Amino acid sequence: MNPSATIPRITIRPGVDLCQSDLPLDWYQDELRPYAEEYLALPDRTPETVMPWLDGYVRPAIEAFGPSMLLAAHFYMGGEIVKLVERYGGHIGDSYALATIASRTPDAQIIVQSAVHFMAEAIALLAQPHQRVYITNPKAGCTMEMMAREDAVESIVDQLLDRYGDELMIIAYMNTSGRIKALAGRTGGATCTSSNAHLVLDWARHRAPRVLFIPDKHLGENTAARIGIAPERIATLPTPAGYGAPVELDDPTHCDNAELILWGAYCGVHTVFEPAHVHAWHDLGHTVLVHPECPRAVVECADGQGSTNQLWDSVMQAPRGSRFAIGTEGHFVRNLKEQAALRGIEVEHLAAVPNPGLLRVAGCGCATMSRNDPPHLAGVLDLLHRGTPPELNHVLPGDTVSETTGVRDRLPEAERSELVTHARNAMRRMIDITERARGGAPA
Ligand code: SF4
Repeated sequence: MNPSATIPRITIRPGVDLCQSDLPLDWYQDELRPYAEEYLALPDRTPETVMPWLDGYVRPAIEAFGPSMLLAAHFYMGGEIVKLVERYGGHIGDSYALATIASRTPDAQIIVQSAVHFMAEAIALLAQPHQRVYITNPKAGCTMEMMAREDAVESIVDQLLDRYGDELMIIAYMNTSGRIKALAGRTGGATCTSSNAHLVLDWARHRAPRVLFIPDKHLGENTAARIGIAPERIATLPTPAGYGAPVELDDPTHCDNAELILWGAYCGVHTVFEPAHVHAWHDLGHTVLVHPECPRAVVECADGQGSTNQLWDSVMQAPRGSRFAIGTEGHFVRNLKEQAALRGIEVEHLAAVPNPGLLRVAGCGCATMSRNDPPHLAGVLDLLHRGTPPELNHVLPGDTVSETTGVRDRLPEAERSELVTHARNAMRRMIDITERARGGAPA
């Protein structure tokens, strides 16, 4: 298998704050609270203060485990965690790179992941029996994934399968639980990421007359436009009223003419962007690149769209003096801005227009992913080193986790094994499709 896309090198520089706003102490699970107390007592969040404290826990664990332990983080991690993980020799990537990390590093028996839960679960789905996956904070969930939990999706999927039978194939975006990925696998479908959604959906439409895409309606619309599915052949299901809320489908006949049926969820981080943001930066002479989780109207007037790896590469490979406005998660844009500045390239966050007027402003980034902070990293690594890793942080396929308490609901062994078979099939189809398109050997 080819290595995934370019992995950036992100460096920690003195004088830069290391952490997002601190989490309240009662947000830490019992086992990690002592580390949080120490962290909160530090005088500031500069590298000069935080690094020696963190080193005291992380270095001994790294030295003890050597190559049998692998640290991983997603690009969207706030609090400079990506910089910390990279400093300790870890792996930073997008969801495709992270999902395939276990098979690419068979020496790693313990994989510690700092990102949202579905990403850790995706690693666990493809892990070999000798590999165990831990997440630094089990309360780090993806709000888009929460809008398409199994309980919410089940009844509509049953309705659609009753109506269309084998003519319906499910494609699950990586931002879904293992249970939804398994559902896709059962229908002969696949998973996808934002970097390969066009390849996977194009593959699916040639194998089934109807494709149900779960959960991101915006990525679905943007990908449909990219591969030439006409808007009148798309049916969008109602947006869930809340996290875990079931969606009712009163009249399934409105899907009869659809080639693509879209689940109605979205990412709150990417839906703050509006076409007016794009026009404002165009007026200032910036090139606008956006993530395909942005609404269709934003992607249509931007200069380009791409996954995080693609956005990173487009900017870093641009000539000196280039100016960009980037429409995606805020922490990623901040890291990109810092690194691009070292090459004489200007980067701004798409929502940070100089005169916002009536435009909506963006938050700092993906708040749930940022729940993985330095005390979580220090605590989980130290407890692993001591031989007492908390079971709350141990990720198994099929687990569902409460984002409020961190408590996980685990499937019985037989059900888990069945789920793994179907979800792996869906993920392997995605990997095969992607690697074939890249000219590599199928996985
Ligand atoms: S940025 Fe949006 S889609 Fe990505 S993990 Fe956060 S909530 Fe989920």
